[in-house]
Amino acid sequence: SQAQVLHQEKMAAFGLLAAGIAHEVGNPLTSISGVVQMLERRDPDSYTRDKLGLVTGQLARIQAILRELVTFSRPASDTRGRVSVRDVVDEALAIAKFYKGGKNRQIVAAIPDNLPPLVGVRDQLVQVVFNLVLNAIDATGKGGRIEVAVVTEKERVALHVIDDGTGIDPAHRVRLFRPYFTTKKHGTGLGLFVIRRIVEQHGGVVGVESEPGRGTTFRVELPVAPRTQILATD
Ligand code: ADP
Repeated sequence: SQAQVLHQEKMAAFGLLAAGIAHEVGNPLTSISGVVQMLERRDPDSYTRDKLGLVTGQLARIQAILRELVTFSRPASDTRGRVSVRDVVDEALAIAKFYKGGKNRQIVAAIPDNLPPLVGVRDQLVQVVFNLVLNAIDATGKGGRIEVAVVTEKERVALHVIDDGTGIDPAHRVRLFRPYFTTKKHGTGLGLFVIRRIVEQHGGVVGVESEPGRGTTFRVELPVAPRTQILATD
């Protein structure tokens, strides 16, 4: 209906605005963090150290809020259709580069030509890759390496997000996808929960392999679109 279309357009505009704000606010935040770190290194007295700690904590909080804002305002459109994996990865990486740490990681994508399209909601699939890459950024230090590698396997596309970061404590494995499980000071624990929900709604599965101290690979497997598909119209 027209009301629905209007609502969708509003949400799309909001998503863009949110991404724009996150970007614009992110840069000054990064430079404020830099100044605070500089002051912390000058051996301040305990009062100043205490106050600087407060500033750092609040800065991290603002960054977490920005991240949520973009994540949850992203379902800009819920239109199902054929989706190009390459477009999804390109968009997710373009947004991820705005984030703290995103610029000083080595992020590479290995995507074969002639990949069959998927069928689903583009923006949701972007969110899956985006969240996985943000987690990989969080898990790696400066200069860390993150690879998004896509392969086809029969009627499925397997997308891997590989990092050489901290790895995952085996004791945490079973809790990873539960809502609110986080090991981050300012984490929400919703990223993987949302990822799994979206992947399953697309008829796919998500898995993880990790070695503490060496890195982690998340694997998302999704069915490709039927070769001759007549899209229903209403
Ligand atoms: P959040 O990022 O807010 O913590 P997630 O649900 O996205 O929420 O992740 C839950 C937890 O899973 C993280 O706190 C972290 O401990 C672990 N995790 C996720 N991805 C990675 C990764 N690539 N490397 C190491 N640990 C990870």
